[in-house]
Formats: sequence, structure tokens, C-alpha cells
Amino acid sequence: MKALIKDKPARGATFTDLPTPQIGDNDILVRVCAAAICGTDIHIYQWNEYAASRIKLPLLFGHEYAAEVVEVGKNVTNFKKGDRVAAETHVPCGHCYQCATGLQHICEDMKILGVHMDGAFSEYAILPAVCAWKLDPSISYEIGATMEPFGIGVHAMSKTKPAGQKVIVFGCGPIGIYAQMVAKLSGAEYVIGVDITKERLDLARTMGTDIVLNAKEVDVVDEVDGITKGFGMDIVVELTGNKAVVNDATKTLRRGGDIVLVGLYAGAVELDLVNNVIYKEANVYGVTGRIMWDTWWAAQSMILSGKMDLNPVITHHFDLKDYDEALQLAESARTGKIVFKP
Ligand SMILES: [Zn+2]
Ligand SMILES: [Zn+2]
Repeated sequence: MKALIKDKPARGATFTDLPTPQIGDNDILVRVCAAAICGTDIHIYQWNEYAASRIKLPLLFGHEYAAEVVEVGKNVTNFKKGDRVAAETHVPCGHCYQCATGLQHICEDMKILGVHMDGAFSEYAILPAVCAWKLDPSISYEIGATMEPFGIGVHAMSKTKPAGQKVIVFGCGPIGIYAQMVAKLSGAEYVIGVDITKERLDLARTMGTDIVLNAKEVDVVDEVDGITKGFGMDIVVELTGNKAVVNDATKTLRRGGDIVLVGLYAGAVELDLVNNVIYKEANVYGVTGRIMWDTWWAAQSMILSGKMDLNPVITHHFDLKDYDEALQLAESARTGKIVFKP
């Protein structure tokens, strides 16, 4: 089968032929129908510190995908050939305290598809049955491939009650835009999206965000102060993973407000906790991945409601063989989701 792999500890990737993988008893063999590029894939392509410290070569990467079931392992009873599935990328151990108490997504021995084990930038892939989500017949493979990142936006907003609230989201990449869409759908008074590229701010506005702020052109803290007449934001979501931005994010929060931290920072972050968190009695939430399967049910319901069209967030399509162009475009941080059709 055709596959995009990482086989050298340097920038780039290799498009090659691999044998169709052999599944274990608890796995599903799937034919990949759509696979989206994630920030993690960009790290792997660039071979930065994040990738070098986590990944053993060679690796078939890519983890946001939807697929058709081709074969099931002998212990798999809830899926059959021909089923349509989307992949949850966090592979829980099934035995630890977290797994036993409904928190599989923060399993202490968690593996990640396309990072710790082979992923899905390929014609066929191995999906552990524990990570397979049956795709509703009305949801396309493309949208199915984006349910994983959409789920992060859903999970982030689920920590809060956006109805009647002023919401700001720092970062208008796909997950940021998804979070903004969920806030709008949930009845927020208004939603502000912050980013530094015009393309992403335009996309946020197209998807329904009320106010977009370009942090390269305006002082976001001052702007928010003006918009809210000094009140501050009820709900702040931080998705940039930029150490300077998280400080501004806490400054925009009103007293007693909720701040949800999702972006991943390189190293420790310095914050004015006394003034911007403690004296404000801020509610601080860390969010990673999706709750299995609460978030997926909620994400599916939002899509099936017909009130939320995720299609325009997918801005580019590529054949897998054009991976260089696709990953370099993703690197520019000026696009929505980029989807491969293997
Ligand atoms: Zn991802
Ligand atoms: Zn576990």
C-alpha cells in the first residue's frame, strides 16, 4: 500500500510502498478514506524537539481520519466489515485508575496513534477497536476525519456554560474556530476570535465569529477592555500555546470567570497568578483530547443538529503523494483543515 512515513531524523517525509498491515486480535483493519493534517504531523514533518523526543523511527504518521472497516480481529464483536468509522487517537490501557473511572483520555499509560504507533497517512491502517467510533451514515468521511480536532473544541467549551456569556478564543486554527462555533451554537452573547493571520481571521468570521482581532495590529487586552467596557470576558479559551499570549488571555478574563487552557507551551510558563487568577477567583481548566465517548456523542449531536456545518473549515484537499506541498501549506498556519484522500 502507499504510505507516508517518517524514516529519517531530519525535516521531510517519505512517500513509499509498505505491506498491508497485519492486525492483532483487538484491532480493526481499515481502508483510510480521509485523513486530516494536525499540528502534531507538522512537528513530525519538521522533526523539531517535540517530535525528536517522542518518536521512534520509522513511523507511519497521521492520526485524524475516517475509514471503512475491511477486517476485524477475533476479539472484536462490535464492528464488522463495511462499517464506517472515525478514529479516536488516544489509545487507553483499559486498566489504570483513570481508565476505570471514566477518564480514559488521560490514561496514565496512554498511547497516541501516529505518534507511539503507526497512524493513517496510508491506504490501510490498524485501528485498535477501543478507539473506533461508528460514523453516523449522514456524516461524510471528510467530516469524520475532522471529528477528532472538532472534539477538542467541543471538550474545551464543555467545561463552561457559554449561554449568555462573552467568550474569547485565542487562536483561530481549526480547533479555535471549532470552539468559537460551539460557543455560538451554545448561545454566547458574542464570540471574539484572536489570531495573527488574516486568512484564519477571515475564516473565523465566515464561520460565525462576531468579532475578530488581529493581535499583530491591535493590543488585544485594550480592545477587550473597550468592547466589554472594562468588565472583561466571562469565558477565555487559550489555544495558541504561545507563552506571551496566555498572559494576555488571563488579563482579559473578568473576576470569577472561566479560563480553559488547551494550547501546549514549550516549557514552563510565567504567569501573574496573584492578580490574574487568584484575586479574580478564576476557574482554570486544563483540557486535553476528548472524553471517551461523551465528547464524541456531543460532537455528533452538534453535527446532526444541522445547525453547524463543519465543511467550510476544511479549506484544502490533497493527494497523499503531494504531501510536501500539503505539509508546507499547513506549516504556514494560514489555512483551515487540510485533508488527504489516500
Ligand atoms: Zn491531532
Ligand atoms: Zn489507562
